[in-house]
Amino acid sequence: MCGIFGVIGSDNAFIDIYKGLKMIQHRGQDTCGIATYDNHFNIKKCDGLVTGAFDNDDIDRFKGSTGIGHVRYPTIGKGGVENAQPLFVNIPYGIIMAHNGNVLNYFSLKKKLQNVYNRYINTDVDVEIILNIFAHHLEQRKNVDFDSICDAVKNVFNEVQGSYSVIAYIANKGFLAFRDPKGFKPLIYGKKDKKHVFASESVSLDILGIREFTDVKPGEVIFIADNGEVFKKRITVSSQTACIFEWVYFARPDSTIDSMNVYKVRYDLGEKLADELMSRKEEFDVCMPVPDTSRTAALACANKLGIPYREGLIKNRYVGRTFIMPGNERRKSAVREKLNPIKDEIKGKSILLIDDSIVRGHTSRAIVEIVKQAGAKEVHFAVYSPPLKYPCYFGIDMQRKDEFIANKMEIENIKNKIGADSLHYLSIKGLIEGMKQKENIFCDACFSGNYPVNVDEDHIKDIQLDRDLAVN
Ligand code: SF4
Repeated sequence: MCGIFGVIGSDNAFIDIYKGLKMIQHRGQDTCGIATYDNHFNIKKCDGLVTGAFDNDDIDRFKGSTGIGHVRYPTIGKGGVENAQPLFVNIPYGIIMAHNGNVLNYFSLKKKLQNVYNRYINTDVDVEIILNIFAHHLEQRKNVDFDSICDAVKNVFNEVQGSYSVIAYIANKGFLAFRDPKGFKPLIYGKKDKKHVFASESVSLDILGIREFTDVKPGEVIFIADNGEVFKKRITVSSQTACIFEWVYFARPDSTIDSMNVYKVRYDLGEKLADELMSRKEEFDVCMPVPDTSRTAALACANKLGIPYREGLIKNRYVGRTFIMPGNERRKSAVREKLNPIKDEIKGKSILLIDDSIVRGHTSRAIVEIVKQAGAKEVHFAVYSPPLKYPCYFGIDMQRKDEFIANKMEIENIKNKIGADSLHYLSIKGLIEGMKQKENIFCDACFSGNYPVNVDEDHIKDIQLDRDLAVN
């Protein structure tokens, strides 16, 4: 999972990108990068967070009215600044590009680019594949007009399998954005006066005072020429399969993605969870969130069940997300540093703990232990998403089946493993109904195993080998 932000027509692109990226820092903390254009590309990429990477000297150095930025959590290739985005190619014209997603056929395309297109791939990051395929096809055309750009993107759609929301700037031509034909990953577009902004989440537009925005549609290309002229075309129209995990976990609650406010969706999922819990025999004194993501669902669940909502776990904000930190040991020790109980809210009570998901179970077990050690009479664990059982090949670092506790154990055994007195997961039916859409426009493959696109076994082997090498 990554975050992207791009702007054209700004009085100071660097400041806008810096502000926009800070708003989506939760989407990746491994590396960050900013590139602006002012008759040449100014590029800086760093390890870690945006606030630590850029300073006042950069404001003077990064001139230009257009540019793009990226925050990364690696899902292909190792972490580290050598694989940070944005990436640049000088032929044709000079193009800078960043993306959010995962290229499924990365390894076969890498060979094709080197052996057939004579393009050298210098990093382990999959946007370099998209960038070079786009550049190769654009180079075949005489001019850079919208038709040529659409033709090049169409070739990307034909050749690149997987998920990708992409932003790019073509030197002295214009700003480009497109979203893969299935629309897995979010991409928001907004405009204010002469400024056009693209971002992974709408919160990045809020900070710039841009109130009106829309979603780049699946399979759509938007090009903003340097003179401000806007071109749009939906190149392919197929049924959307947006990553449902964006609403469950990844996105900020104050973001709106594909016209669905994340807070509202989480509230609805909390109510759905309460509906299902009502048929169970357990009794709860209070409903308590595992902070922060599950607060909204826990509030809704408490209201619907008619029991008090209480905060009993306080998060140390400076430790970072446990799920998003690579490596099991780092995750386990981080959770103990991260959550501290309020004993008076817990002692002697039957606690209904609400969480967004269970991946490996280590975090859930540590949390149950913290609450029990704080004196809870009983700890009941409820999750407002179904059991995670299947790998994601579309941009989330859950790419091995054996990572999931629900793949190895029945729910009763998971309950015992995490030390809870009961365990309930929201059903897949409850999850889809909770999204409250007329049609099911979501990918739920990590819960259901129903992959919306064919996933080639050879690609899976390549990806799993890559993840093993990256993590170990
Ligand atoms: S498999 Fe799961 S995490 Fe991956 S895109 Fe689909 S819903 Fe999202």
